[in-house]
Amino acid sequence: MQQLVASESPRLAPTIADLERQFAVQPPAVVAARGLTRTYGKGDATVHALRDVDVDIAEGRLTAVMGPSGSGKSTLMHILAGLDRPDGGQVTIAGTEITQLKEKKLTQLRRDKIGFIFQSFNLLATLTADENIVLPLSLARRRADEAWRRGVIEAVGLTDRLTHRPAELSGGQQQRVAVARALINRPAVLFADEPTGNLDSRTGGEVLNLLRRSVDEFGQTVIMVTHDAGAASIADRVVFLKDGRIVQDRQRMTRDEIYDTIKNLEDRPARDGEGSPR
Ligand code: ADP
Repeated sequence: MQQLVASESPRLAPTIADLERQFAVQPPAVVAARGLTRTYGKGDATVHALRDVDVDIAEGRLTAVMGPSGSGKSTLMHILAGLDRPDGGQVTIAGTEITQLKEKKLTQLRRDKIGFIFQSFNLLATLTADENIVLPLSLARRRADEAWRRGVIEAVGLTDRLTHRPAELSGGQQQRVAVARALINRPAVLFADEPTGNLDSRTGGEVLNLLRRSVDEFGQTVIMVTHDAGAASIADRVVFLKDGRIVQDRQRMTRDEIYDTIKNLEDRPARDGEGSPR
């Protein structure tokens, strides 16, 4: 695997997703949600964060979730990742229906099947980069597959930073540690919550490049919540939420198309009964 190089146009060669589309092959869904609803508060203060959401997330694809602030992106991501439970509806991850799972089984499933990347990196300050990367395996008392570990560390360009602690790393390097940590146990799905939110555009571009490569080279399934049209333009598919509903679901879009779509959603007044009372 090569060292990561930031590229202005990382999408010149056709991806597996492009070929699948060309030959109308439908990859299986790794995450499937049916009829998800989630409300917060009671009475007049009720907020409908999700209203009857159905979505299938295809294997080996990068799916971006976008929408105006308050549209339900975080709520959807937390429920799809088993970090929160819906009031109604079901979520299946890699064949397991998770909404009825007991907390212990759910924790186990998250540990074994899901990788997370957060805006704020969420590394443990007292551990070195290497210790942070293998943390999911240490917690599961499993040993790393050495070839995979080396491959991931090389892919994220951290070979010479492994003994550094987070405070000794730049923001971009810390997020690359987080990407490596999310990939180390080959999760069925990797959730990225505003992964470039705390990074400058060049460093953010490197992290996006890395996520894209994890899909193209490792067949990783990635779901990324972002409000950044540039970030979402690396996705194979962009799902737009508004007022707790999926209002558009599109295949590869340019940054300008995404920007215009979001602008329209923000400008368009909510239809009767569509708005969420605050
Ligand atoms: P987004 O991520 O798109 O900004 P969220 O999923 O965070 O949207 O929120 C969707 C709606 O649910 C918003 O109206 C928000 O104010 C509300 N909401 C989210 N979390 C809570 C909570 N813990 N308590 C009350 N309301 C909440």
